[in-house]
Amino acid sequence: MTIPRVEMKNVRKRFGDNEVIKNINLKVDDNEVVVLIGPSGAGKSTVLRMINGLETTTSGEILIDGDDIAHAGKSINQMREKIGMVFQHFNLFPNMSVLDNITLAPVELGIRNKADAVTQAKQFLEVVGLTDKADAMPASLSGGQKQRVAIARALAMHPEIMLFDEPTSALDPEMVGDVLGVMRRLAKQGMTMVIVTHEMGFAREVADRVVFFADGELLEQGTPTDIFDHPQHPRLQQFLKQVL
Ligand code: ADP
Ligand code: MG
Repeated sequence: MTIPRVEMKNVRKRFGDNEVIKNINLKVDDNEVVVLIGPSGAGKSTVLRMINGLETTTSGEILIDGDDIAHAGKSINQMREKIGMVFQHFNLFPNMSVLDNITLAPVELGIRNKADAVTQAKQFLEVVGLTDKADAMPASLSGGQKQRVAIARALAMHPEIMLFDEPTSALDPEMVGDVLGVMRRLAKQGMTMVIVTHEMGFAREVADRVVFFADGELLEQGTPTDIFDHPQHPRLQQFLKQVL
């Protein structure tokens, strides 16, 4: 039996009196693409943030390759380095060139020397289709280009798992396709991915498994066909009527 890359066991999360994650159990296997869907406030971002240790759990366990992140001690940084994250609002460093945005973390963390980091950054810019933007400043880029730089920056850490939190929600419609195209290629190459998105067509095409959350509960999961063509839970049926 292989160990899941990510395993959430009976995870709960409270903010004050507000229990926003209620006893979630979720596994992500190696090379699997899992798409999280559900209404706003369901707890999707909180789940991603707990998986990469940006948010603690109130109870339960989160295992990354079998190791509990809550008790990682000194190896917490190694565990974090396995996980790349891309956010809705890009979070690029505005005062640095595209190239410097991508090389910063690997160089600062002593993972690569500057010359190697630059060589690799250029390779990742090719992956996201932006070789000509190495010296550009973020302000001069479109939203879709910024998001592709953010993906290249995450890839530069050689993550084994990539988390995406609504990566296309802040983009003009004509930019969405380019970003989804990059994600589709990563999925085809076998990257393990957990993606929160409202792009249901993309979810249907790329997901190995779709997971539906509402009000902090995991209400249903299955293949895209299960979820989109044969939804069981009334809350999921209602959600799909609104978004499809
Ligand atoms: P989603 O991403 O599905 O829209 P979130 O995970 O962002 O949902 O939020 C789930 C719930 O947790 C919401 O009710 C939100 O207001 C609450 N929440 C999220 N982060 C915090 C926080 N840092 N402090 C207090 N409440 C929070
Ligand atoms: Mg969210």
